Amino acid sequence: MTFKHKGLQALFGGTFDPIHYGHLRPVEALAKQVGLQKVILLPNHVPPHRPQPEASPAQRLEMVRLAIQDQPLFTIDTRELERNSPSYTIETLTALRKEMGPEQPLAFIIGQDSLLSINTWHGWEQLLDNCHLLVCSRPGYAANFSEPQMQAWLNKHKTDDTNKLSQTPNGYIFLGDTPLVDISATEIRNNLNNGNVNENLIPAAVMAYIKQQHLYQN
Ligand code: ATP
Repeated sequence: MTFKHKGLQALFGGTFDPIHYGHLRPVEALAKQVGLQKVILLPNHVPPHRPQPEASPAQRLEMVRLAIQDQPLFTIDTRELERNSPSYTIETLTALRKEMGPEQPLAFIIGQDSLLSINTWHGWEQLLDNCHLLVCSRPGYAANFSEPQMQAWLNKHKTDDTNKLSQTPNGYIFLGDTPLVDISATEIRNNLNNGNVNENLIPAAVMAYIKQQHLYQN
């Protein structure tokens, strides 16, 4: 009997402190290119030794929920946020791979900045054993690795063929042709801390929540 899978499943992890259009717009374009029916947003539990988000886990989750309330493409997986301890991406992907079985096509979405520093991630060499990587362009980040061995790794796994993503469970890297959206959460927080509000960078419902909760105001 041939295996019937659910189509390519894609996760998009992030701190989302706060979620903004630099997260949403490129991923929407990527979903069209690759033919994703759903993108599962995976808010991170941030480890204590890393700079802490300004918003609480509950507030970050609520902002993600508000950002996608009218967007059927997106859904949320709260497993990392609900854990008492931080989980490495590789651990979450391994758990999902177990749940979904070995044949289900699975992808993890990252921005170009994350791709360029992927060799700093715990267990990064095992990522492609569990999923494909789908990469969104991000302004200000180089197209290539400066380390030749990392560029060789990218070249080895890169594909332009979206069929391969949906027909194989894992192992490919797809560089999306996505819009360059020059927005960062750090910049949004800094601006809000300084009293500068640019309403166009985040969904209106998220901005209303930020104001109501007095978030990012020193
Ligand atoms: P900061 O600006 O503080 O670094 P961030 O928005 O990059 O925050 P996260 O919320 O953790 O941080 O990002 C989640 C994912 O979204 C990462 O893979 C990151 O590469 C990607 N990402 C964030 N902003 C953009 C953007 N403007 N364009 C493309 N990808 C982005």
